[in-house]
This record gives sequence, C-alpha cells and structure tokens, in this order.
Amino acid sequence: MPNWLKSCIKLTTKEKRVSKKCTRHLQPDIPRAPPFKGMDITFLGTSSGSPTHKRNVSSLVLHLVTGEQWMFDAGEATQVQIRHCRTASMGRINRIFITHMHGDHIWGLPGLLSSLLIGIEECNQLHLYGPSSLDEWIKSTIRMSRTILPRNKLVFHPLDARQKGHFVIVDDDNYTVHACPIKHTIPCWGYVVEEKKTKGNIDAAKLTLMGIAPGPIYKQIKDQWDQDLIVLSDGIVLDRKSIMSEPKEGRKLVILGDTCDPSNIQEISMDANAIVHECTLPESMAHLSRQRGHSTATMAAKFASKIRAKSLVLNHFSPRFCDDTLRKELDLASRHYKGNIILASDFGIFQVAPNKSKSVG
Ligand SMILES: [Zn+2]
Ligand SMILES: [Zn+2]
Repeated sequence: MPNWLKSCIKLTTKEKRVSKKCTRHLQPDIPRAPPFKGMDITFLGTSSGSPTHKRNVSSLVLHLVTGEQWMFDAGEATQVQIRHCRTASMGRINRIFITHMHGDHIWGLPGLLSSLLIGIEECNQLHLYGPSSLDEWIKSTIRMSRTILPRNKLVFHPLDARQKGHFVIVDDDNYTVHACPIKHTIPCWGYVVEEKKTKGNIDAAKLTLMGIAPGPIYKQIKDQWDQDLIVLSDGIVLDRKSIMSEPKEGRKLVILGDTCDPSNIQEISMDANAIVHECTLPESMAHLSRQRGHSTATMAAKFASKIRAKSLVLNHFSPRFCDDTLRKELDLASRHYKGNIILASDFGIFQVAPNKSKSVG
C-alpha cells in the first residue's frame, strides 16, 4: 500500500472504534430503518448526471437474508453516503454491479474499492460485475494514483457488450442474478435478482397425530421438501402436501441502468415483485427520449405494466425536477400502471415484500 494511503486510512482496531464514535454525531437526520424484510433496498443516490442539494448520484444497496449487501452502481461520493446511512455497511458489501460507464454511475468506484480492499473496512473478497472497459479504467486509475489493490481480493466479471440476450452471472444456494443489455447511448445492462424457492414449514401437530414424533425424522422430511412423495428410512411414504406447506416462491427484483428501451429484459422480468426504473426526463421531453437514451415516468410505468410488476420504484431524476414537478410526473404515470409507484429518495428504504406461502392442504 502506498504511504499516502497507509498514513490516512490504515487504522488500528482501537483507532477505528474512536473514529466511528467521533463521526456519529455528524450524521444527518436520517430516519430509522423499518424491520428488515429480507430484500430491502437503501437508495444512496437518486439524481442523474450530477448531485443536487437533496440527491447524490446513482447508487443503491440491496440487503439480503444472507446478511450480504450488494451494491448497484457507485456514483461520486457513494462511500460518503454509506457513512451517513444507518443500514448499508462497507464491511458487508461483497458484490458490486455496475450498469454502464457513465460517470454518474462509476466515479465513486475507485475510492470505494480502495477503502473496501485496503482501507478501514477490509473485506475478504469482492466481486465486481460490469462492462469489460471497467477493468481497464479501474486499473489505470489505481495505477496512476500509485495505489496497489491486493490482486486476490478483487474478482472482476466482465459483461460482454456483444452478447445480445440475458445470461446468468450469479447462481448460488440462495440467489440467481441475470444480466441483460438494455438500450442507452452506450452499452448498458439491467439486472434481475431472483431468490430461490425456500422450504415449506412442517405441520408438527398433524405429524404427531399420525404417530410421527419430533426428532431426527423431521430432518428426513425437510430434506425432501421439493418432492411430491416423501419416503422415510423405514419405508413409510408420506404425501408432502398433507404435512408441509408449499415451498415459498422467491422474490424477483429488476434493477435497470439508464435506458430509453428496456424491452430486451422483458422476458426474464415478467411478474417481478418490483422494478427499479430510471425517470430522467419530464413528459414534455418524451420526444427526445431515444436521442438522450432516457425514460419518462410514463415510459417506466408502461414497462412496469407490461411485465406485471407489483411495484415500480422510480429513480435517477434529472436535477431539473423539484418535488412538485415530480408529483405531476407520477400522476401521469399512474394512468398507465395500476401497481404501487414509489419515488426513490436518498437514504430512503424500499422493502420487497415476501411472497406468501400456501398453508398445508
Ligand atoms: Zn445516469
Ligand atoms: Zn447513462
């Protein structure tokens, strides 16, 4: 690590504690987070192009049941926003997804990476997904600022702009993430995060009535949660539906980068629980949407309706908007979409409600 950085940010554990204590009183008045619902989004920046006095540039953090926090885009001063935030935490971020190379989505990344990988909040391994040119940009920025990032800690997953359809970029025990190119003025991607199905609950009362007492046998039953018939080690066969609630369908969340036409991602976004869609232009500039590569609230509403999304969260607002003009745009959009429409705000939290599981039949 270069000396300039070492002397500034490499703190001892005791120094970190003192630093946290000293800066706590500097936090702006940010509302407390509601009880966690397992798929919550904290918006760190909701302005497009440049920050305003109320909004920073693009970034959001997705909080997951696993305790992981995934970041989508990292505009300038994103790490300052995290420091002010009650929910997002530098030490928990293990994946960063970048939608495209425009500055309002990436200019906070080099500083953030340096803090995450060699600084105050060290993480074990960080996965970074984004356009292939991102790798070169990061490397040259890091090199020219005479910083050295530990090689094995940062894993870069380049997205190929020549690939037309969607493709899987994360597939673990709990989640699948698809990336898909969407139309903007430069190569840009949208992401679909899907929770995997989760086990149903055992009806212990019913099993006891059947003479099956709680014990290791419950594990045998639980392990076969995705089968129609459950076969126990003594040969007894049980109808799963009569002793377990249905497996719970996972949630689907669509997070788009800047776009004037996301139709490419439509197929994998169908029936999403929520979509985060940009809203850069006012309706009066709708005729410029293709040329600018951006959307109006009405365009976002039409797409949310097309994919039958339960909620539409609008973000990436032009600095030309004020609260009043945004409300007018929202009124226009609500004519084209019957679900919830939410206007994102910095430090605002949106919770993707869990799907309901069907009870034992
Ligand atoms: Zn942008
Ligand atoms: Zn852009």
